[in-house]
Amino acid sequence: MRIGVPRETSSRERRVALTPPGVATLVSASNQVVVEVGAGLKAGFSDDAYRDAGATIDQRAAVIGDGGVIVQITGPSDEELTGPEWRGLGAGHTLIGQHDPLWRPERVAALAGTGASVVSLELIPRTTKAQSMDVLSSMATVAGYEAALLAATRIPKLLPMMMTAAGTVSPARFVVLGAGVAGLQAIATSRRLGAVVQGYDIRPAAIEQIQSLGAKAIELDLSFRGGGAEADGGYAAEQTEELNRRQHEQLLPFIAEADAVITTAAVPGAASPELITTQMVEAMRPGSVIVDLAAERGGNCRLTVADDEVTHRGVLLLGPTDLPSKAAATSSQMFSNNVMSLLKHLAPDGEPVLDFDDEITAGTVVGHHGEVRHPRVRQALQLEPLDHTADSGATS
Ligand code: NAD
Repeated sequence: MRIGVPRETSSRERRVALTPPGVATLVSASNQVVVEVGAGLKAGFSDDAYRDAGATIDQRAAVIGDGGVIVQITGPSDEELTGPEWRGLGAGHTLIGQHDPLWRPERVAALAGTGASVVSLELIPRTTKAQSMDVLSSMATVAGYEAALLAATRIPKLLPMMMTAAGTVSPARFVVLGAGVAGLQAIATSRRLGAVVQGYDIRPAAIEQIQSLGAKAIELDLSFRGGGAEADGGYAAEQTEELNRRQHEQLLPFIAEADAVITTAAVPGAASPELITTQMVEAMRPGSVIVDLAAERGGNCRLTVADDEVTHRGVLLLGPTDLPSKAAATSSQMFSNNVMSLLKHLAPDGEPVLDFDDEITAGTVVGHHGEVRHPRVRQALQLEPLDHTADSGATS
C-alpha cells in the first residue's frame, strides 16, 4: 500500500496525521510512505526523522500521486481541492481524515465528487472494537486538558488551597459543563491542580464518572422531561427549549460562584446547546473566566466568539478551537496511533478493501465511487437514501 501524508495547511494547525514511529511500523510491513516536506515540523518531527523511519520526503503533488491512501488531520480545503496540487485526487485514492461530515456535509460532497473513497474519522463508531481508532476521544482528551490549563492561567487566582504566613488562600472553584471525554479530562486536570471542581452533564450516567474523579456532580431536577437524554451511540440527544430553560435556572447559582467555567457540551451534527445565558455571565464575578470548547458550533455561551477573546462585564470568554494543536506532539502521536489501527482494519492484507457489511467501514466511509453514501450525511444534504443492497460486500 502507498500512503501519502500531506502537510496541514490551516494556519492554526500544528499536528501531523502520521508520526515517525507510525511510519516505521507501516514501512516494516512493506508499505511505501511519502511525507510532504516539513509535514511534521510544527509537531516536533523533522523530515530526517521521517527519512530514518523509512519514508520518502517529497512535494505535495508527489505525495498525492495518482492513487493510494492519503491520511490528513482535516483533509484538503475547498480552495485546495480545486488547485493544481490536488488535481490528481480521484478514484484510486482513499482519503482518511476529519472531514466534519455532519456539520459541513457539502465539503464531503465535494471530496466524494472526486471519485475518491472518503473516510471520516469523526464517525468511527463508539464501540469497544473501534476504541483504538477513536480520534474524537483522543483529541477531546487533549482539548480537555488544555482547557483546564488555559482557565488556570487566565483566572486571577491560584488553584489550590494554601495555608501561608500571609493567611489562608481558598481554592479556586471550577465548574465543568458536559462530562464527556473532554469534560472528564478537564475535571481531572483542574482537580490535579488543586481546584474545587463541580461537573454537570445531561446524561445521568456521567454522575458516577464525575464523582470518581473527586469532583462534585451537579444534579438538576429535570424530571418533567419526556424521552431520554441519551441518543444512539452514547451521545446526548438534542434538547427542548423547556429543558434548556430549566437547566439555565438551576445552573445559575453554580455558575455565579465559579472562578472558571469550562463548557464542553456537544450534540453530534447539531449546534451546541446554550448552557450559559448572558444573564448567567452577568451573575459571575469580574475576573472569572469561561472557556467554551463548543465555540466552533455556536458555543455553549452565545457571547463566545470562536478563536477570540471577549470580555463581558469583567468576565473573560475564550472560544479556542485549536486546543489539540497546543500539544501537537501528543495529539499527533494519538492521532497517528488511531489511524494505524484503522488502516490495519481497512487494509489487513495491504490494499484497502472496503467491506460495507462491516460496521466500522459502513460507519466511516462517507464517499465512495463518486457518491456520498453515508445515510446521515445524505440526510444532511437532503439526498434520497441510497439502495445499499446493490453494493454490500467487499469492494476496493
Ligand atoms: P460529545 O463531545 O458529543 O459531548 C460532550 C458532552 O456534552 C457529552 O457528555 C454530552 O452528554 C454532553 N451534553 C450534551 N448536551 C448537553 C446539555 N444540554 N447539558 C449538559 N451536557 C450536555 O461527547 P463525547 O465526549 O464524544 O462522548 C459522548 C459519550 O460517548 C460519552 O458517554 C462517552 O463516555 C462515550 N464514549 C464511548 C466510547 C466507546 O465506547 N468506545 C468512546 C468515547 C466516548
